[in-house]
Amino acid sequence: MIRSWSIGDIRVTRLVEYYGPTHDPATTFPAFDRARFDRQVASLAPGDYVPGIDRLVIAVQIWIVFAGSTVILVDTGVGNHKPRPAARMNRLNTLAPLWLAAAGVAPEAVTHVVMTHLHNDHMGWNTVLEDGAFVPAFPNAQYLVPKEDFVYFKDLLDSGMAPDPSLEDSLLPVFESGLVRFVDRQPTIAGVLRVERAAGHTPGHTTYWIESNGMRGVFSGDVFHHPIQIYEPDWNTSFCIAPRAARQVGHALLARAAETGALVMPCHFPPPGAGYVRRDGDGYRFEPAA
Ligand SMILES: [Zn+2]
Repeated sequence: MIRSWSIGDIRVTRLVEYYGPTHDPATTFPAFDRARFDRQVASLAPGDYVPGIDRLVIAVQIWIVFAGSTVILVDTGVGNHKPRPAARMNRLNTLAPLWLAAAGVAPEAVTHVVMTHLHNDHMGWNTVLEDGAFVPAFPNAQYLVPKEDFVYFKDLLDSGMAPDPSLEDSLLPVFESGLVRFVDRQPTIAGVLRVERAAGHTPGHTTYWIESNGMRGVFSGDVFHHPIQIYEPDWNTSFCIAPRAARQVGHALLARAAETGALVMPCHFPPPGAGYVRRDGDGYRFEPAA
């Protein structure tokens, strides 16, 4: 549920909002091929896939970065009490605020809330329900939002095409409180995270790199949803808005993660939720973090 790793002087903690066997691989990956999948499943950890019901194990995790007095949350999960079309996300009522406290995070102490992109499972805990209204959960934080995503999803909302009310319940109240900044121009967040555009999954998808004492890490958001994609990098998910760009971003990230030995910290990987990409012949393999 709560696990930490060190990257040089920086501590990163993974907090799981929930996880389980939820995703049918054939509908998750448009390029899915059953024979290839069956071969690659042998490379996965036993808990990554549940063959009896043919479901990939997918998590929703919130990353916390501790660097001196700077406390950064990277992506904020689904959140509580929010109406969502997917049953697994609809009106959750978890103890995530208590788990944040267990991870050593008081809401007032969070200095930055950073989003890789603006899908509903990455900004839910931006706000909490108070007296019937959603208000910012981290009152002293700067919320950093990829601008291209905001423009894209606000357009959908304004044209009545939004898939759910997530922008209205999880981001607009934060805007109204004056806590949002766009992340598109600055090179780093608080000198701790290096900002890199990684558009494809969404128009503004962004990754955040850490470097400390020669060690590296990357918050890769939804560049990959599941370890099977390390073995089949051309398998985008059906949630990718620009599939070709998403594939290029995926290949580039694999090459760099393998070259630098970075700890890869995605949003949705099953336990332990992070790991290393290693070269393996012409391709790659995934080594879960110890
Ligand atoms: Zn996601």
